[in-house]
Amino acid sequence: MSRSLPPIRNFAFVCERVSVLVPEEVLVKNGFGYRTVNCIGQVGTGSILQAFEYGADQVVLLGCPEQECRHGIGAQNARKQVETSRQLLNLMGFNPEAVRFVPVSERSEHDDLFSVRLASNRSSGQKVAVGIEPENDDNFAPAGTKRQTDFVCIECGRCSGVCPVARTGLGFSPRRLMQKAGTEDAPLKTRALYACLGCDLCKTVCPSGKSIAEEILRLRVIAFQQGTQPVMAHDGVVQTLIRMMAKTTLPQNRREWISSDLRVADRGEIALWTGCAPYFDVLFKEMEVNQVGTLRNAVRIMNRLGIEPVILADERCCGHDLLWLGDVRTVKKLARHNLTQLQDAGVKEVVFLCPECLRTFKLDYPRLAGTQGAELKLKHISEFLFEHGFKPAGNGTQIRVTYHDPCRLSRHLGVEDAPRQLIGQVNGVELVEMAHNRSEGLCCGGTSWLECGAAVKLLQDRRLQEWQAVKAETLITGCGKCEIHLRCAQMSRGNNNKAQKIVNLIDFFADKE
Ligand code: SF4
Ligand code: SF4
Ligand code: SF4
Repeated sequence: MSRSLPPIRNFAFVCERVSVLVPEEVLVKNGFGYRTVNCIGQVGTGSILQAFEYGADQVVLLGCPEQECRHGIGAQNARKQVETSRQLLNLMGFNPEAVRFVPVSERSEHDDLFSVRLASNRSSGQKVAVGIEPENDDNFAPAGTKRQTDFVCIECGRCSGVCPVARTGLGFSPRRLMQKAGTEDAPLKTRALYACLGCDLCKTVCPSGKSIAEEILRLRVIAFQQGTQPVMAHDGVVQTLIRMMAKTTLPQNRREWISSDLRVADRGEIALWTGCAPYFDVLFKEMEVNQVGTLRNAVRIMNRLGIEPVILADERCCGHDLLWLGDVRTVKKLARHNLTQLQDAGVKEVVFLCPECLRTFKLDYPRLAGTQGAELKLKHISEFLFEHGFKPAGNGTQIRVTYHDPCRLSRHLGVEDAPRQLIGQVNGVELVEMAHNRSEGLCCGGTSWLECGAAVKLLQDRRLQEWQAVKAETLITGCGKCEIHLRCAQMSRGNNNKAQKIVNLIDFFADKE
């Protein structure tokens, strides 16, 4: 994608059958850039939002009416993608009607198709086209050459022996990547560079004592600077959303989820980091994801402890998923923005529900934003609640549960005890461990919304089997993303057993109150 092209204000996705009825000259006369697709149902939310990211004021999907679609579900799927895009635009503070599905038949009048509905912001009139901000607007230091590394691989192969992705037998070898990591012919254009989950399991065996995942991240940064883009899950919608959140002009509705029973503050010493919960609820509504509900439960628990947490009105994504794609420049902007917002609100301690946000603040922001924010105390909600003496209740009903360690929380940050100590206090709960737990716990398989292929599915199967083996009714996790990925795996295998639940730690406690 060229960043030097002028933004296209009106953009149409056109089903190839419809392109006969609405030819190029008509689109151009009406000021539209366009892309022809085989079927309008193929256009995903990620592509729609990307058109806005690159400057469109409105996006129309021109496709056959329901009853005339030769694929049967094209129009139906287009309506679904439009609805999801509208909900996301609404969260970002823009006019949702800027995206439309328009069924086109031989009877359609062209003038009707192009009645323009600009995506103005409801209050300020600001356009949705957040545009492309100029390159080199900060002094980001380039990642350096491929040789700039003190990582020495002696090719012992231990990493490949423990790596869950390598063990699927589908061809990934961290040893092969690391052999060449510091050389001029470092593997920058291979799919393998993006197969690593960053789970850090190999760090526990590598004689270098260093993190292979960090080395792989370094290579991804260089690859990104050279224009490499990996395969992304869900049409790249999460990455697009994050890039849009890095634009300074975004007028998002960050606090709409706060219900009247919750006590929150604009300023204060303790903040609750909300992450991308409202966006995930829109994207994964078919999985009945309710991360906003988890946020509400977290605030309720904090309120009961006498704490009214700050919820920032202009919080942005921490940038974790773009960082692991190699896009350091955008994450640097997000880091500065978020740290400034926290400082301006007088915050001294930040409590996180999402381990990936916590890791990014703790380990990555210092190298992206220098000393800014260095004085902040950063805690996972489980650590924070344990330290504040939270005692989860429970009516004594016997229940057997297991706990899934999120890689970012356990191996990256060493938080393993606090969630278990809290769960262990719930009256009637028996906590049993899966075969792999704590620092050896298996990854949920999903990482940074990169390609979700066969290896990921095998890993998820393995984790679900470990859960089955301990005969626990409920799998508790301390990460909203693990919850989504494991629930997805459970559903895609047709497991609709309502008695077997995957729940967030906070929702588990709330349910026992
Ligand atoms: S970090 Fe995890 S997925 Fe990546 S190479 Fe190491 S063990 Fe494999
Ligand atoms: S474990 Fe470390 S030293 Fe051994 S092959 Fe892997 S990267 Fe190289
Ligand atoms: S596991 Fe499911 S939710 Fe997660 S990336 Fe893969 S398809 Fe998406």
